[in-house]
Amino acid sequence: MTLAVITGVAGQDGSYLSEYLLSLGYKVIGITKRNSTSNDLSNIKNILDNKYFSIFNGDITDTSFLCHIISKYKPDEWYNLAAMSHVGQSFIDPVYSFKVNAESVINQLDLIKNISPNTKFYQASTSEMFGSSICPPNGYTEDSQKNPSSPYAIAKLSAHLIVENYRKSYGLFCCSGILHNHSSPRRGHDFATRKITNGLSMIKLGKRKKIKMGNLSAFRDEGHSKDYCIAMNLMLNNYKPKDYVISTGSGATIEEMFKYVCSISNIDFKDAYELDNNFIRPSDVPYLLGNSNLARKEIGWNPFYDWKKLLEEMYYSDLYNNKKLL
Ligand code: NAP
Repeated sequence: MTLAVITGVAGQDGSYLSEYLLSLGYKVIGITKRNSTSNDLSNIKNILDNKYFSIFNGDITDTSFLCHIISKYKPDEWYNLAAMSHVGQSFIDPVYSFKVNAESVINQLDLIKNISPNTKFYQASTSEMFGSSICPPNGYTEDSQKNPSSPYAIAKLSAHLIVENYRKSYGLFCCSGILHNHSSPRRGHDFATRKITNGLSMIKLGKRKKIKMGNLSAFRDEGHSKDYCIAMNLMLNNYKPKDYVISTGSGATIEEMFKYVCSISNIDFKDAYELDNNFIRPSDVPYLLGNSNLARKEIGWNPFYDWKKLLEEMYYSDLYNNKKLL
């Protein structure tokens, strides 16, 4: 059986990727950061009893922990999805963000090079790396200029470049997916799409009056995490290691997404939205549209969801779950 390690396994993408790989007949080792008060494994509750799934508590900034896993298991595939993944929080925690999102990637690659050079490595890169560079009319491609505007994106770009460097310098099978925004019913509660769907479901149930958010004018290409996890696996099974942009090629401003979910829930946008300046970032990326033509052509990736289908699923899932809590 093919053995895969997934860091960040209890996060949104880690949980969907685990389910997908198990369905393909893989053995999966998941890595999650231990938390003494709330070890939240709700995203992976469906697979905790699967005999081909095992879980290790550990921090990806701990080199000895990484060394133990790589030496003991020498996995076929390694998906590095763990990250300090919140752009806004990275302005508050820039040094920690760099440690987790950049330094740890150097450690992982170096350990793989020295201990298990046949392990294929996937890195979770991000469209935030394009930052303030001008977006081409059909969206950013793999070759578009990268001009990151947050500590999160700067750390991710460093990791992206180190992956390229280890591929060219040492011939490792390592590559990065430049993923545009993607969400799901498992998205963290402090990300815009989830704040909208969860908040509006609570308003619908009479449990809340307003949703406090910052800038709504940012445009994002938005898809479903499930689709994006398939792309990660296709990339590690490509004929050669290569970076790809993964995106739906369509999107909307956060305000348009908010209004769309308002239309589904029959709630007036003006009644639900409240501007909270605490959520305004020191700098924001105004427009991110992706062009995933290369991935569609070369690895045969084809997303099922667009942003409207995604938000519908998220809203009805939040409504259902919040109703159960009443
Ligand atoms: P997520 O839900 O935040 O998952 C990340 C996971 O990593 C969380 O479970 C987190 O645990 C864990 N983690 C954080 N620091 C860690 C550490 N030091 N050691 C071990 N685990 C650690 O994010 P996601 O949406 O699944 O995204 C997966 C990856 O794709 C991330 O690298 C993200 O930056 C990248 N990405 C995401 C998007 C998107 O739109 N979702 C777009 C482009 C790229 P805690 O929750 O306990 O901190």
